[in-house]
Amino acid sequence: MRRIIVIGAGAAGLMAGTIAAREGAKVLLLEKMNMVGKKMGITGKGRCNITNTCSVDELIAHTPGNGRFLYSAYGQFNNTDLLALLTEWKLAVKEERGGRVFPVSDSALEVRDMFRRVFKNYGGTLHLNEAVTNILVEEDRIKAVVTDKETYYCDAVILATGGVSYPLTGSTGDGHKIAEALGLRVTELRPSLIPLEVEEPWVKELMGLSLRNVELSVYAKGKLQAKQFGEMMFTHFGVTGPIVLSLSHTVSKLLRKKARPITLSINLKPALTEEVLDKRVQRDFTTYSKKQLANGLKDILPQRLIGRVIAEADLQADKVINQISREERQRLVHTLRDLQLTVKGTRPVAEAIVTAGGISVKEFSPKTMESKKIKGLYAAGEVLDIDAFTGGYNLQAAFSTGYVAAMHAAHGNDAE
Ligand SMILES: Cc1cc2nc3c(=O)[nH]c(=O)nc-3n(C[C@H](O)[C@H](O)[C@H](O)COP(=O)(O)OP(=O)(O)OC[C@H]3O[C@@H](n4cnc5c(N)ncnc54)[C@H](O)[C@@H]3O)c2cc1C
Repeated sequence: MRRIIVIGAGAAGLMAGTIAAREGAKVLLLEKMNMVGKKMGITGKGRCNITNTCSVDELIAHTPGNGRFLYSAYGQFNNTDLLALLTEWKLAVKEERGGRVFPVSDSALEVRDMFRRVFKNYGGTLHLNEAVTNILVEEDRIKAVVTDKETYYCDAVILATGGVSYPLTGSTGDGHKIAEALGLRVTELRPSLIPLEVEEPWVKELMGLSLRNVELSVYAKGKLQAKQFGEMMFTHFGVTGPIVLSLSHTVSKLLRKKARPITLSINLKPALTEEVLDKRVQRDFTTYSKKQLANGLKDILPQRLIGRVIAEADLQADKVINQISREERQRLVHTLRDLQLTVKGTRPVAEAIVTAGGISVKEFSPKTMESKKIKGLYAAGEVLDIDAFTGGYNLQAAFSTGYVAAMHAAHGNDAE
């Protein structure tokens, strides 16, 4: 019987442990917290966006951090396979907007508890409150795992300790230190899916204001880097919301390259060309011709944003609309299409939904998740240098890499 130790009972470790046990290995799952899947329990605002029903190509396209490394893993175990497995394990799921999959119960805790139950049913052993400190290797082969309590000899290890974000869930970067001690390369850890801080103090006034159907573009030194259409929100320090989080991977990379200044441009009316928008504004100006400017924009802008747009366009809020010149109106139209913010930085990595960077994927075989240097050492999930957008892509990556690592750890080269 192969003795397999899985380090970390998050999404990747729970899947890896369960599958290795199902495949007949003697599995010990070591978790340093007092419960399994602490982070999983808060995913998807407590509802757990388990995966996405899109094609494998799209899964990869939504994984800006080394998505291509996952081709082989998705060839062996993808979102369709995951959904079949969840059905077998009696977890009822539903699909929502954008292909996002959630448990019918809307409870992330149900997903976590299901894993714990199935793992136990397959005969796996779980130790909580036990932190791994070290992995022992002899002649480039796994020998044992050392914890704060004991040393366990084994044939294979699956390292699934997660990234460094939301450290209170147990993801504190231990796996990176353990990997470095074994001579594996760890790329720089940085936040992804993270709100952005901006220089402009006026964002505070707009705190809590959500903008729907806008386009947000990122520029570095005046050059367009990326853009996204959707929803965003102002906070006391800057901006957040789905499109900000998605663009944060790009911003985080630019900050690392010191490619400043980094600016954000909000197009408040992306569905309209400049010409059509100008006509629209002219129509509103005819309707409200005798009103002050601040009172003539309510059909086109949320009330709280009107004052700021007027100020950014360098116009006077109390000017009567029929006194506004063509040039002034065009300035307004331009601002509606290009409301600018200057990026100061990201929020700290501890607040990121995912960690970009991690153990270099070059250290592992994409087919088996086994280390190229150390026989019997596997890695899965966010501890690797893999990060994806929101929409269920991160958990899918964790589940697939966990599954593949477990199959190969349990069967060696016969796994496929
Ligand atoms: C607020 C929030 C919401 C999210 N929502 C979603 C979502 O809806 N959908 C989605 O796809 N992704 C979501 N994510 C991202 C997703 O949760 C992670 O990418 C995923 O949990 C990574 O799984 P993992 O198993 O690799 O790591 P983790 O889930 O971080 O698990 C690692 C485990 O290893 C344990 N560990 C660490 N060090 C040691 C050690 N030395 N010894 C023993 N155990 C150790 C930790 O305690 C932890 O339990 C969200 C993330 C956050 C923070």
